[in-house]
Amino acid sequence: MSLHQSIDPSIEELLPLAKKEGIATVWDRHQAMQPQCGFGQLGICCRICWKGPCRIDPFGEGPQRGICGADADTIVARNVSRMMAAGAAAHSEHGRHIALALQQVAEGNYPSYRVKDEAKLKGIARTLGLDCEGKEILDIAAEVARRTLEDFQSQDHGKPCNWISATLTEKRLEKLAALHVLPHNIDAVVAQIMARTTVGCDADATNVILGGVKGALADYAGMVLATELSDALFGTPQPVVTSSNLGVLEEDAVNIAVNGHNPLLSEVICDVAAQMGAEAKAAGAKEGINIVGICCTGNEVMLRHGVPLAANYLSQELALLTGAVDAMVADVQCIMPSLAEISACFHTQMITTMDENKISGATHVPFREATATENARQVIELAIEAFRRRNPKRVSIPRVKQTAVAGFSAEALVGALSKLDPEDPLKPLIDSIAGGAIQGIALFAGCNSTQAVQDSNFVTIAKKLARNNVLLLATGCGAGAMAKNGLMTREATESYAGEPLRAVLTAVGEAAGLGGPLPLVLHMGSCVDNSRAVGVAVAIANKLGVDLDSLPLVASAPEAMSEKAVAIGTWSVALGIPTHLGIVPQVTGSRAVTDILTEKTRGLFGGYFMVETNPDLAADRLLGVIQERRRALGI
Ligand code: SF4
Ligand code: SF4
Repeated sequence: MSLHQSIDPSIEELLPLAKKEGIATVWDRHQAMQPQCGFGQLGICCRICWKGPCRIDPFGEGPQRGICGADADTIVARNVSRMMAAGAAAHSEHGRHIALALQQVAEGNYPSYRVKDEAKLKGIARTLGLDCEGKEILDIAAEVARRTLEDFQSQDHGKPCNWISATLTEKRLEKLAALHVLPHNIDAVVAQIMARTTVGCDADATNVILGGVKGALADYAGMVLATELSDALFGTPQPVVTSSNLGVLEEDAVNIAVNGHNPLLSEVICDVAAQMGAEAKAAGAKEGINIVGICCTGNEVMLRHGVPLAANYLSQELALLTGAVDAMVADVQCIMPSLAEISACFHTQMITTMDENKISGATHVPFREATATENARQVIELAIEAFRRRNPKRVSIPRVKQTAVAGFSAEALVGALSKLDPEDPLKPLIDSIAGGAIQGIALFAGCNSTQAVQDSNFVTIAKKLARNNVLLLATGCGAGAMAKNGLMTREATESYAGEPLRAVLTAVGEAAGLGGPLPLVLHMGSCVDNSRAVGVAVAIANKLGVDLDSLPLVASAPEAMSEKAVAIGTWSVALGIPTHLGIVPQVTGSRAVTDILTEKTRGLFGGYFMVETNPDLAADRLLGVIQERRRALGI
C-alpha cells in the first residue's frame, strides 16, 4: 500500500501503525476525496461572486460562459493569477517579518537577536547601492531595512522594487520592463491582482496572466529579501554534515519538531535549547533536548545549525505517529491542520506561535520578537512537561536515517570553487559547463503532493540527470526528498553521477577540504531560498555577458502543490528558465491559458512551463532543453 504513496521507507513502517490506531493521514483523506472534482482540476469553476458558483462544460455541450459572461479562458486565468498573488503574499509576508525584525535590531529593541553575519550585511548594502564606508553595523542594518521596506511602500510605478533591480541581469530587467511586469511595490501588486480579477474586471486572459506574472516577480522580491536578510541576522549557511528522516528522533531525548517557514522563533529555540539540557535530563531525558526540523523551518535550521531534518511536507503527520515527538512547534505555512488532532492521540504538545496562524486544539504561545527568548523557553518547558507524559510503549521510531551534507548557499558554493581558483571562483564552474563535464544545472524546488508518490519524482529525475552530468541544486521539500533518500551524500555522487560530473564534484569537494566529493545534490535551503540559485545563475550570466534565458539551466517542481509553488514556477519562467511541473496544473480547462503558459511565455520571456507526470520522460525533456541551450551557445 505504502509503495504507492511514498518511496520513503519510514512511511512504510508507520502507515500500518496509523491504520491500527485508527488515525487518518493525508493519504487516507486523499483517498476519501476521490473522485476529485473535474471542474476544479481543469480550473473552470468560478466562485468569485455570489451569482456563482459557475462552471464551464469542458465538453462544449453545456454552458460555455458563467452567469456574468466570463468564459473558460477568463475564469482559468483569474484563478491561476490569484494563486500567484497568494504565493507572493505568503513569501513577502515572511520577508516583511524579517525586514521589520532587522529594523528593530538596528534600533536595539530585540535583545534576542543580533547581526550575526556582518560581512553579509555589508555585501547586501552594497548590492542595494548603499554606502557603508565608515558606518557602524547597526546603522547599516537600519539603512538596509529602510531600503527593503521601500519595496512594500513605494508608490512610484516607474521604479521597480529595489531588490529586483539589484539582483537580476540588465538584459532581464530591460525585457521585464518592456513587458510592463516589473513590480514597484510588492503589496500593491498583490492587491492589484485581487482587484483586477474580481467580478466585472480584467477579462483578457493574456492580460490577466501578465498581471499574475508581475505578482510572481513580486514573490521573487519577497523571497530574495527574506533569504538575504535572514543570512545577515542568523548567519549565511556553510556546508554542514547532518542527517535526515524520522530516524533522527531520539528515544532518550525531549524531541522538539520545528515546523513551518519563518526562522525567527526556531533560531532562538535552537539557542535556548542549548542552555536547557539539564532541565530535560532532570525530567528523565538522558540525551537532553533534540531539535528536529520539518518542512522549510526545518531546512532553515538544518542549513544554519546542522539540525537534522525529520520530514518534508507530506510526512509531517507521520512524525507524530512515532509517539516520540514531545512538541510540534508551528510557525507559518504548510502546517497541516490535522496535526492538532493527531497530537491529541498522543502525549504531544501541539504549539502554534504566530497570531495569524492558529489551529484549534493547539496550545498557542504568542511569539513576539521582543520576548523571543522567553517564548522559546516557554515552548521548551511545554515540551519537557509533555516528555514526562510520554508513553514509552507507544514509541515507534523507524530506524531510517540518512546522512545529509547541507548548507550550500551561493557564498558557500563560490567559497568552495574559490579553492580551485581564488582569483576567479566562477571560472572552474563555467569551464566545466563549457567543456561539457557539467552539461547544465537543474534546480529542484517545490513541495510534495498526494497527487504523486512522495519523493519518487524528485529521486527518479535527479538520478537520471546526474547520470547525464547535470549539476543538481535543491530547495524546500524537494531538498527534503533528496536528503531523506540519501542523495545529499558523497556516496550518492560516487554511485549516480556521470564520470565527468563526478570528477568535478570530487575536485571541488577535495579542494574545499570536505575530504571527498561534494554531495550529488546541493541543498540550497528552504523554498524562499530559491533566490540563492538565481544569484548563482545571474553571476554566471553576467560573467558570460548573456541573459538568463541563454544558460543551460532548468528548474523542476515535480511534486508541486501550493500557491507558493505556482508563484515560484511563474517567476522562474519569467526569468527565462524552462520549468518542469510533474503535477498537471489546474489550468487545462483553457486552451488559451495553457498555450500562454507553455508556449507564448517562451517568446516573451525565454522561459516556459513543461508538464510531464512521468519522471523518466520528464528527465529526458529536461536533458533535451539543456542540450538545446548548449547548442544555441555553441558549446
Ligand atoms: S464572476 Fe462570473 S463566472 Fe464567476 S461566479 Fe460570478 S457570475 Fe459566475
Ligand atoms: S516546498 Fe512546498 S510543501 Fe514544502 S514547505 Fe515549501 S511550500 Fe510547503
